[in-house]
Amino acid sequence: MKFGGTSVGSLDRIRACAAIVAAERARGEAVAVVVSAMAGETDRLLSLAGNLGFGLGDEETDVVLSAGEQISAALMAMALGQSGLASRSFLGWQARIRTEGPPGSARISGLDAAPIQSAMGEGCVPVMAGFQGASINERLRTLGRGGTDLSAVALAAALGAQCDIYTDVDGVFTTDPRIEPKARRIDRISYDEMLELAAQGAKVLQTRSVELAKARSVPLRVLSSFAEQGKSEGTMIMQAEDIAERRIVSGIAYARDQARIALRGLSSEPGAAAAVFAGLADADIGIDMIVQSPSSESGRANLEFTVDRRDLDKALVCIGESDARDVLSETGLAKVSVVGLGLNRRADVARILYGALAKQKIAIRTVSTSEIKISVLIENDAVENAVRALHAAYGLDGAA
Ligand code: ADP
Ligand code: ASP
Ligand code: MG
Repeated sequence: MKFGGTSVGSLDRIRACAAIVAAERARGEAVAVVVSAMAGETDRLLSLAGNLGFGLGDEETDVVLSAGEQISAALMAMALGQSGLASRSFLGWQARIRTEGPPGSARISGLDAAPIQSAMGEGCVPVMAGFQGASINERLRTLGRGGTDLSAVALAAALGAQCDIYTDVDGVFTTDPRIEPKARRIDRISYDEMLELAAQGAKVLQTRSVELAKARSVPLRVLSSFAEQGKSEGTMIMQAEDIAERRIVSGIAYARDQARIALRGLSSEPGAAAAVFAGLADADIGIDMIVQSPSSESGRANLEFTVDRRDLDKALVCIGESDARDVLSETGLAKVSVVGLGLNRRADVARILYGALAKQKIAIRTVSTSEIKISVLIENDAVENAVRALHAAYGLDGAA
């Protein structure tokens, strides 16, 4: 059972979550708990490090950030103790979570569940601090924003357990219910659809956690810790074969704060663009929405793509070495995506997209399509309108 930041945002909330755990135990289930930092805590800690000039990606920043989950894990163990359950906290290293990769976005490379299992064997409810592990050199590492989802799935995989993600909404919806009240809860969704929604920005689950759940076939459920006990219906994430219903469109996702980079007059020799992308990949910068077109100057091409706003400065440094005539960048953009395994079966997907956005007078900067999604780049300010318009246009609106 994983509890997110809002779910453990105060002592009252921690007590409420402890009661949910106690009820599960009373039903005879063995339980391990994973917790996030209290709501707002990770941002607060990040800004402390930021004031000293250190950001996400720095080794000591990871040590500061991991304190957030340390506190909530111990508080949860205390609250469970008060509700009559023996409980003990485990930091990432105590649960032997081994990581690879850079500070701020490390991956889990190993988890030895023995210490947690032996606590469970003694009838104790272990509470593991999410979002953290230790590198091979015994340095603390965090797992990327939203990383407690990944900690929880990794532990569930190691224990051969189902993973219940308790959050502040009653499951996965057809879009963010905070933007569109007409969004509908999805009863069952496949790993692939969920993966694409998460990758396109639906932050209800961290993308990597869905990847791991799929790879290890961990049954994953998202439900609310705020609902009256036993009343949250939630969403099951499972293999596509086990879902009878076939939707064309699963949902609309959005990612704010994107930046566009345009290289004008890059050499059109095949190696030139490859070198640009190799440099960006080495710096661990994710890119999207690549558009390449011929330049008016012969032997030259124009190349543009998007990155997360927070990666922009790093990306521009990497690109500095290219032979482009000109490098332009633009911020204040957002990506809105329509996701659905059935999109490629529909001829009218683009008509609906352009029609709905034109009606709202929303200008499309770039479009990119794949078999299972179509994304548009628009101004940040237009996100809410675009999400609502597309949600309606693709027939996802439920009763308000
Ligand atoms: P937690 O702190 O529990 O990890 P998050 O804030 O990371 O919670 O994720 C839950 C939030 O995700 C919801 O409050 C909601 O605003 C947002 N969200 C975005 N897209 C969706 C979606 N398709 N379905 C449900 N929630 C979504
Ligand atoms: N506390 C971390 C964050 O805010 C991890 C998590 O909540 O999943 O990103
Ligand atoms: Mg989260």
